[in-house]
Amino acid sequence: MPVLLIASILPDVDGLMSETVAGHHSILHTPICWIVIFGLMVFVGRIIQNKKIKPISLGIFLGTQLHLITDWITARTVGIKWLYPFSDKDYFLYQIQPEQGQLPVWEMVQNPYFSFYMDNGLLFWIEIGIILITIVLIFKNRPSGLEN
Ligand SMILES: [Zn+2]
Repeated sequence: MPVLLIASILPDVDGLMSETVAGHHSILHTPICWIVIFGLMVFVGRIIQNKKIKPISLGIFLGTQLHLITDWITARTVGIKWLYPFSDKDYFLYQIQPEQGQLPVWEMVQNPYFSFYMDNGLLFWIEIGIILITIVLIFKNRPSGLEN
């Protein structure tokens, strides 16, 4: 679970190297990148006969794919290139507005970007709902040894 949680934010590492919100989807935001990493990890795990690498690689794969799926659903300025490198087509559920994402990543949490982000109220409240459900699930499923 910790591997999956950490992996679920790994694709956004490219935001640290990008000049704009709309430009931050590098190869880390493509499924093929994580399929290759997963395959390499499983391969290396077999070569060195380490049984821990397989569940770790599965956690990384599932966490990063969860990230890509949620980025695809909540895309506002840039989508997901599901078929990269075979196609450069950006996929998104709601129409994206790349022109709104021409600002530094650290300016996402302030206006005018934050107002734009909240324009799609359905998406915004789905995201808040997912966060609340996650908090409930974390507290409901915490290990019983931690209760005392
Ligand atoms: Zn992302």
